[in-house]
Amino acid sequence: MKIAIIGTGYVGLVSGACFAEMGVDVTCVDVDSTKIDNLHKGIIPIYEPGLEDMVNRNVKAERLHFSTRLDDVLDDVEVIFSAVGTPPNEDGSADLKYVLQVAREVGQKMNKYVLLVTKSTVPVGTARLVKQAIQEELDKRGVSIPFDVASNPEFLKEGDAINDFMSPDRVVVGTESEKAKELITRLYRPFLLNNFRVIFMDIPSAEMTKYAANSMLATRISFMNDIANLCEIIGADINMVRKGIGTDVRIGSKFLYAGSGYGGSCFPKDVQALIRTAEENGYELKLLKAVEEVNNTQKEVLFRKLAKRWGHDMSGKTVAVWGLAFKPNTDDIRQAPAFDIIRKLLLAGATVRCFDPIAIPASKSYLEYLEKDNNTTEKPDYSKVYFANDIYDATFDADALLLVTEWKEFRMPSWNVVKKSLKNPLVLDGRNIYDKTEMKELGFEYECIG
Ligand code: NAD
Repeated sequence: MKIAIIGTGYVGLVSGACFAEMGVDVTCVDVDSTKIDNLHKGIIPIYEPGLEDMVNRNVKAERLHFSTRLDDVLDDVEVIFSAVGTPPNEDGSADLKYVLQVAREVGQKMNKYVLLVTKSTVPVGTARLVKQAIQEELDKRGVSIPFDVASNPEFLKEGDAINDFMSPDRVVVGTESEKAKELITRLYRPFLLNNFRVIFMDIPSAEMTKYAANSMLATRISFMNDIANLCEIIGADINMVRKGIGTDVRIGSKFLYAGSGYGGSCFPKDVQALIRTAEENGYELKLLKAVEEVNNTQKEVLFRKLAKRWGHDMSGKTVAVWGLAFKPNTDDIRQAPAFDIIRKLLLAGATVRCFDPIAIPASKSYLEYLEKDNNTTEKPDYSKVYFANDIYDATFDADALLLVTEWKEFRMPSWNVVKKSLKNPLVLDGRNIYDKTEMKELGFEYECIG
């Protein structure tokens, strides 16, 4: 079977490589010619464990191809997945311009039946707009060609995306025709040979399922952060509380970790978009508004802990930050809490020494972009951010160490080296990965979340 995937980002490239791994002939299409040129040279644009090997293996086997032109493959494929970005508009709603551009392009260029499957996270009603856009283009051409649309929201987690795609908990698909159902079944059967967990449903329910899933996960995080903050005030320990409630099978132990707030390219924008969808339909999602508010406050919790000790004027202070990516095992820094903290520290006059095992190049580009951006009112002095060569270089002569992302290599550092390197042995653990008693015994002033 031959398919095309439009949008070769985190979702498109992983999906393309995984379908190719199962024997499907896949062409990944992207408008970003640098990305496609690099992929032709074997340079993978993102960091995702296992992806580089899988891409190169399938390119070599001639099952995975890259192109900037959809027309090159459109006449040969039965199924097209659209995995382009759906960034937030200023009001929080999802910007559908890329999704609809893809639909129009398909309508302009198709010459035979295709099934266009939207993998991007899109609000309820988008499939209708996609269908309308294709039909309008066909009408303009004065041709009548059958097509189907479907919704197949993606649930992969960056950092473990290949495992998630190869062995999904479930695959959710919204369809309107038997033909679409049959094509999707053929494509996903190899991933779910022993237990076929494709859940077919109507398209609006599939579109909604993705938002509901991300909103539920974000809610668990904000709930635990809120309870953690209360634990600190009343003298309870959130780690004990987490164990206590996580063993209840109705609650479960996953996604119950207090920390410095959620980030990434999905939770913040999807929670906002669902709030907007509700508002546009005359309903107020009070719970999700609170989830978002708690998270916005939580992203600055480490800064507040420092400000409590040092006051809001941090001139002359140097702060080490371990971890920039929004979570471990990815180079994705979109909406990462580290940058909220760094911004607050710089505005307070501090100098920052940061380290991340993978996300430093992406972070440097992001800070260069922020430096040139003249639309922000309060612009910190980004030249006061030093990108360190390793974890100990980051702590050199610093007045405090903040652990922001729980990469494995931060879990068991040589604390004696850290202590010697720091000017002041203060460690603020934004992910609760260190042992309170041990840190105190080692002579650190230590605080975690909750
Ligand atoms: P991304 O920004 O990494 O990639 C999107 C790609 O689409 C870019 O390379 C861009 O150049 C390309 N593109 C845009 N318009 C195009 C067009 N007209 N033709 C061809 N290519 C085009 O995005 P992502 O993180 O992969 O997310 C894609 C979608 O999947 C979003 O809706 C997101 O919410 C959703 N999603 C993301 C994740 C994740 O972990 N990143 C997980 C599940 C769902």
